[in-house]
Amino acid sequence: MSKTVLVSGGAGFIGSHVTVELIQAGYEVVVADNFSNCDTTCFEGVKKITGREDIPLVRMDFCDEAAVRKLFADYAIDAVIHFAAYKAVGESVAEPVKYYKNNLQSFLNVLDVAQEKGCNVLFSSSATVYGEPDTVPVTEQSPRKPATSPYGNTKQMCEDFLRDTVLATKGLVKGIALRYFNPIGAHPSALIGELPRGVPNNLVPFITQTAIGKRECLSIFGNDYPTPDGTCQRDYIDIVDLARAHVFAVRRMLDGKMEQDYEIFNVGTGRPVSVLELVNAFEKVNGLKLNYKFAPRRAGDVSAIWADPTLANEKLGWRAERSVEETLKSAWDWEKHLAGK
Ligand code: UDP
Repeated sequence: MSKTVLVSGGAGFIGSHVTVELIQAGYEVVVADNFSNCDTTCFEGVKKITGREDIPLVRMDFCDEAAVRKLFADYAIDAVIHFAAYKAVGESVAEPVKYYKNNLQSFLNVLDVAQEKGCNVLFSSSATVYGEPDTVPVTEQSPRKPATSPYGNTKQMCEDFLRDTVLATKGLVKGIALRYFNPIGAHPSALIGELPRGVPNNLVPFITQTAIGKRECLSIFGNDYPTPDGTCQRDYIDIVDLARAHVFAVRRMLDGKMEQDYEIFNVGTGRPVSVLELVNAFEKVNGLKLNYKFAPRRAGDVSAIWADPTLANEKLGWRAERSVEETLKSAWDWEKHLAGK
């Protein structure tokens, strides 16, 4: 019988891509979302891509403990992947209480029920936990630096919540934290992708919205960083590759293959790409010119960070496959799909 995975925040950008990959790998998925930062576009896209009209969708808030309990009572959940969280760094600085309440309470509710049920938990963490690293690439052993935003702090704290729960339950709850680098792009079908509300904070949605004419000009934040071309370097990971990593991690958990009850994996390509290189690649692969200018540095940005993904390559048997060009083409296809072109 196929196993059932609960995907909290499953209607969002990452959650919808993960749902597709899980279903295509033979898992049953329950999607739960409060739609605070998305609409049903991606969920509808997931149904189309998978040909599954019957995917359960539960509208609920994970901060509501009674609703979380009911969810676990209504469905036999083998593992939960927890995405439901706020994610805007700048907003978290302006409204820390909102971030702490939402991101911590929702995960605590999940852990509370998971420890009662002996359910496995996969937490969606972030490379932000490394802060400004002393050396790059970062491995899972690289120290976590003090968080530079309440958002980053919630990622660190939630990792610790999971580690401590696994320890206290003596492995009845098994946990994996996946530390994402910079997820970009969209599904090759162009039926699901990123849907930022208002002005995008992230680079690639800003690029595609500038290219389509929604934004006048991309500002490249800083060209005086100590990097080869002066712009920041990141590890841009294709969203489908990132989603596939979750399938490998869930399989490892549910098939009893974990070597420790709590494991952490970097999910990145291992390849640094600068902002300017990304812009140039976008222009080249999509055959267009982008309006951009150099602007002052953005507060809180680290100059360079990329992953050493060796552990995920070796232990999960996963590796990033799509080229940055393919990914940037998919991002542009998605933007055109949204514009009805
Ligand atoms: N960036 C930029 N212009 C923008 C948005 C982002 O130059 O309009 C840069 C940003 O300074 C960083 C990189 O793009 O160096 C990636 O930023 P993003 O917000 O996408 O992800 P982060 O690495 O901050 O999580």
